[in-house]
Amino acid sequence: MNNKIILFCGPSGSGKTTISQYLLQHNPTLCFSVSATTRQMRTNERDGEDYYFMSKEEFEKRIANNEFIEWEEVYTGIYYGTLREEVERIWSLGKHAIFDVDVMGGLNIKQKFGDKALAVYVMPPSIEILKERLVARNSETPESLEQRIAKASIEMGYAKQFERKIINDNLEDSFLKATEILKDFLES
Ligand code: 5GP
Repeated sequence: MNNKIILFCGPSGSGKTTISQYLLQHNPTLCFSVSATTRQMRTNERDGEDYYFMSKEEFEKRIANNEFIEWEEVYTGIYYGTLREEVERIWSLGKHAIFDVDVMGGLNIKQKFGDKALAVYVMPPSIEILKERLVARNSETPESLEQRIAKASIEMGYAKQFERKIINDNLEDSFLKATEILKDFLES
């Protein structure tokens, strides 16, 4: 089987996680690539399902051992990254890996894997709407909300570097568009 990688990237609150989860539920050939992170686990999250949660020391040890395909200090003092063994695990199951990563991480992974990977940018209709969504999600402190908004403004500038884009105004439309993009890629 020709194992592939599909990356859903975009600012925090753009809806990339919801869209990736939708595709996962409807496509048994996909498997979610679980990233590692040093951030605190949220109450609705599970270790090994949403992320591999680890200490900063452990993460840094794994960086030194060259265990990551890509890693980044996405927010000050908080690391996120994809372990090589995670993609190997998914491919050994005969599945395609679907990623939900930030914009820089997505571009780095795309560069490493070339035609084996498709990078899709999920764009919020506006920064104002993004802010409203993040506030409604109620997962952020005032500081982390500000950090996410500031980062989103920068990330919007990278959209043109992506092969495919979804403007996530209406979720149902975005699900259809994502399904179409995935089909095209897997058949290519
Ligand atoms: P959150 O804390 O909201 O779960 O994620 C924060 C940001 O980090 C999101 O944009 C998320 O997509 C991104 N992220 C998650 N995993 C990775 C990863 O492995 N690498 C990079 N570069 N970003 C990641």
